[in-house]
Amino acid sequence: MRPDQQGEAIFLLPDEKLAELLSAIKERGYQLIAPILRDAALCFSEIDGASELPQGLRDAQSPGSYRIKQTASPERFAHASGPTSLKRFLYPPRLKLWQTQRKANAMVFEEPADPPPRYAFIGPRPCDLQAVAIQDRVFLRSAHPDNDYRRRRENALFVAVNCLHPSESCFCSSMNSGPSAKSGFDILLTEQIESEELYYLVQTGTDEGLEILNTLKLKPAADSKKRKAATELKQATKKIERKLDPTGIGPALKERLDSPAWDELENRCLACGNCTLACPTCFCSTVEDHTDLAGEIATRDRVWDSCFQQSFSYVAGGPVRSTIKGRYRQWLTHKLSSWSDQFGTLGCVGCGRCITWCPVGIDLVAEANAICTERQSQNPTKTTIGVSP
Ligand code: SF4
Ligand code: SF4
Repeated sequence: MRPDQQGEAIFLLPDEKLAELLSAIKERGYQLIAPILRDAALCFSEIDGASELPQGLRDAQSPGSYRIKQTASPERFAHASGPTSLKRFLYPPRLKLWQTQRKANAMVFEEPADPPPRYAFIGPRPCDLQAVAIQDRVFLRSAHPDNDYRRRRENALFVAVNCLHPSESCFCSSMNSGPSAKSGFDILLTEQIESEELYYLVQTGTDEGLEILNTLKLKPAADSKKRKAATELKQATKKIERKLDPTGIGPALKERLDSPAWDELENRCLACGNCTLACPTCFCSTVEDHTDLAGEIATRDRVWDSCFQQSFSYVAGGPVRSTIKGRYRQWLTHKLSSWSDQFGTLGCVGCGRCITWCPVGIDLVAEANAICTERQSQNPTKTTIGVSP
């Protein structure tokens, strides 16, 4: 819920009924995808039901660091986003585009004909929903729509969770993408704990969400519970200390393409591409062709790529961006500046994944703000932008 949404229909879902909610979703043919502990991190993965949702896990995130701690709390969603995002499911890391097979003297081409998966995402955060909206713009409403994305997206259901525990890496409040969800969900939960009782305030955003909720026959939430949740959401917003000016940053970066800060980044960035893979909106890909040893079957796969790889910009004669400095600058200015020229929004939702999962702790917000501060100090008559208060 948003702090200003107290007049809306909001229902009370006791934790004991969460299993019923997930069963009702599963009965409609959805595959449940939720954050569970995998490889010491909370990763979106398939679950069978509510009993597989972890309880009491808290995360501590900072540049280059992610730690999970088990607490005695029964809460299931008292953590921020983990390394995986919904991109992994809607725009998978490897996708077979087509296959061709030699038959008699002809080559027969086939596109994969599998039915699209029906994912129900349980627990995406408001910033994750905003990332899906950005990818929708790229994959559904651009000059070249992506058919596979469209099939997965049309079949998806979103049971989002408002963020009451943002991490140190988060800056969604700057990007207007959280910690409360405004749109993009079918069902929205706000997890609450009161006198050791765990429950959720529930809102719906679509007819399908309402249909599912109606099967549970929930009672309306008391006003006192709505007030408590609204207060906690305001407190969550205040906890987010990382700040970026989303309107000033784009023009400012364009003016600082020759900043010495890019040279300094050259010395720290490993060009590993982790930031782009963890990012829920980055969409660069390449294609790989494979043939079998008999030379009968050839397949073409689309696989995630990264603008940090030298090969990504390779054209006849060599890569367009041969230095790490050039590649980091390309990435940052695309996310926070030229993405807006292309798609009408910035390419960043403030989830902080690139900050947490950079092995050397390079902090997108700190770097962008430092470059813009340098610009301001060199030209103090211009408006202040992008500086943390
Ligand atoms: S650029 Fe970083 S903070 Fe922004 S959406 Fe991507 S991973 Fe999240
Ligand atoms: S900024 Fe960090 S995560 Fe991104 S390529 Fe450089 S070292 Fe890797």
